[in-house]
Amino acid sequence: MLLTDGHDRTFKYLRLSITDVCNFKCQYCLPDGYQACGKPAPLTLDELRRAATAFSELGLSKIRLTGGEPTLRKDFEDIARTISALPGVETLALTTNGYRLGERAQAWKTAGINAVNISLDSLSAENFHRITGHNRQLEVMRGIDAAFDAGFETVKLNAVYLKGINDHEIDGYLALTKDRPLSVRFIELMETGDHAKFFQQHYISADVLKTKLSTNGWTPKLKAANAGPANEYVHPDHTGSFGLIAPYSKDFCKSCNRLRFSSMGKLHLCLFGEFGVPLRNFLQHDDQISELKERIQMAVLSKSARHQLGMGLTGATSNLSMIGG
Ligand code: SAM
Repeated sequence: MLLTDGHDRTFKYLRLSITDVCNFKCQYCLPDGYQACGKPAPLTLDELRRAATAFSELGLSKIRLTGGEPTLRKDFEDIARTISALPGVETLALTTNGYRLGERAQAWKTAGINAVNISLDSLSAENFHRITGHNRQLEVMRGIDAAFDAGFETVKLNAVYLKGINDHEIDGYLALTKDRPLSVRFIELMETGDHAKFFQQHYISADVLKTKLSTNGWTPKLKAANAGPANEYVHPDHTGSFGLIAPYSKDFCKSCNRLRFSSMGKLHLCLFGEFGVPLRNFLQHDDQISELKERIQMAVLSKSARHQLGMGLTGATSNLSMIGG
């Protein structure tokens, strides 16, 4: 079964947020840290299992656990074990700030995670501290080694491209791809409701990087027909690759292949939509899964062709930790 929208896009990839809590204080996301302020509890293991079952039965074979910081959940490994065991789930990926990766990489691999994306916005310990509020850059670097040692199918490193903050560090990131099959990706800073001023000060277009890559012998990798919006570049002297994720570029949304489900049980058709479709009521019993699937199919038909970020319309997203970046 294929889940499609009204613009000929097919969805095989779900980003499942399992918590909106984060322990980091990234300047562009939660600069004052996570504020609990009376929010409902996140989806339970059974609710997550039902959601993942419905999506996988609708043909979404890749699920990424995200947040907030997903690995903060005490039952994180139970969640990974349960979801990876579902028929139809071929890839269970994780996006993490990497703070526990060094010690837990092997356990997470054993629990069924196949692919890991690590966020690392600076290679300098001091700059990393300034961006995230945590003096843990070295720990995260050790986590990357541990991920390779554990044998994940893919290890990716994500950095948000920030003018005046980390845009001078590109050569260091390129060097990381030299001898290992590491995929480094730079993501354009996206404007969110809470951070218009930070965006104005620090947004820089990925076109700047594109020019740098082509002058330094990097060439675009051919994209598979069902590939997502990242553009990958390769170099004959580098084992790994370098990717750009440029949500402000023309046609970015044309290759959108993903849906998002929040830890509050809402389906988000776009990171920058005005609302999420509340589906938690349909996650209470196993016999609701058929109805849940019908709701999802109906909702996806109304997914809009593109976001309106270019016009400064950020929808209801105050920061990315609330939906799952
Ligand atoms: N805690 C995990 C982590 O740090 O990777 C998962 C959640 S985090 C919200 C997911 C990704 O979104 C991170 O790579 C983060 O840098 C990115 N992100 C958050 N806010 C962003 C923004 N305004 N623009 C671009 N990327 C953003």
